[in-house]
Amino acid sequence: MTGVAVHLDGLRRTFGTVHALDDLDLSISPGELIALLGPSGCGKTTALRILAGLEEATAGRVLVDGKDITRLPASKRDMGMVFQAYSLFPHLNARQNVEFGLRLRRSSLKRAVEMLELVGLGGFEDRFPNQLSGGQQQRVALARALAIEPQVLLLDEPLSALDAKVRVQLRDEIRRIQTEVGTTTLFVTHDQEEALAIADRVGVMKAGKLEQLASPAEVYLRPATPFVADFVGISNRLPGTVAGDTVEVLGTRLPLVGTHADGAVTALIRPESVGVAPDPDSAARVLTTSFLGSLSRVTVSVGDHLVIAQVPSGDLPELTHGTPVRLTIAPLAVVVE
Ligand code: ATP
Repeated sequence: MTGVAVHLDGLRRTFGTVHALDDLDLSISPGELIALLGPSGCGKTTALRILAGLEEATAGRVLVDGKDITRLPASKRDMGMVFQAYSLFPHLNARQNVEFGLRLRRSSLKRAVEMLELVGLGGFEDRFPNQLSGGQQQRVALARALAIEPQVLLLDEPLSALDAKVRVQLRDEIRRIQTEVGTTTLFVTHDQEEALAIADRVGVMKAGKLEQLASPAEVYLRPATPFVADFVGISNRLPGTVAGDTVEVLGTRLPLVGTHADGAVTALIRPESVGVAPDPDSAARVLTTSFLGSLSRVTVSVGDHLVIAQVPSGDLPELTHGTPVRLTIAPLAVVVE
């Protein structure tokens, strides 16, 4: 099965004085998985609900496969959905839950067992939701959403209620299955790692608008705005000086993302771009260290500033509180504001 194209065209949605969506344009290519990423309240869920037909747009259009479905009721839209809260029927077993949508469409029930196998739950057909783990319940919900062979798959924070390990496993599984079946997919999340890991393209939203829509690598390496940079985990804000297409930060000249007038700026630098090495002649001092596993975070005070560096944990023994250190910055392009 090949997916269909989806266009959200100038979508607006107001709730009283709140502009939940403010002229949102978004095109999803056939078979593509787009993750909408953004802080709470930025309008991600509203966009997904309008695409599903569960919410009305104040203005704008929804096109699926070239057809304007803006006024089509949700029940007539060909979409599969998975939400954060397990939405299985508690009195139906896994197979019956998946069969539910097939019955409504008078489709063959045979697909139910096939779909449970696809999501790795072969042999669990007779289990009731309360006999399944959270991750397994979400797999059933995914099987149910895909069983009807929807034109579009909508996933609204489907992994948020799961613990970290299951979340990563199921994320990879969703990606594998989505690629296999080729369904055009919108995935809503507030978790940047999840969005970058799962999507073909990531749409970063702020206050009802798209700030950037680009591949995960592009969003990560060349965030279009300071907001995007902040949201994808760039936590150092350091003084810099722009000259032409470069910016000097802590004595290192770095390439600039975009263009900016010459002069003083704030540069946004990723912790993993900062290197730390003991240097008795340096005025910078280690303030705190925190062990995170294979990598650790080191906070260094330099003049009036704090710089967070992410370093291999093996380097930690020589980076105790008060150690004078020299900071280096990797020559990656940086965003300034
Ligand atoms: P979250 O991650 O918290 O779900 P979100 O990015 O999905 O956030 P939305 O749920 O789309 O955001 O909400 C966008 C804005 O619209 C918020 O300010 C929210 O309070 C408001 N909003 C959403 N639904 C309604 C509603 N039914 N009535 C009033 N305001 C609403």
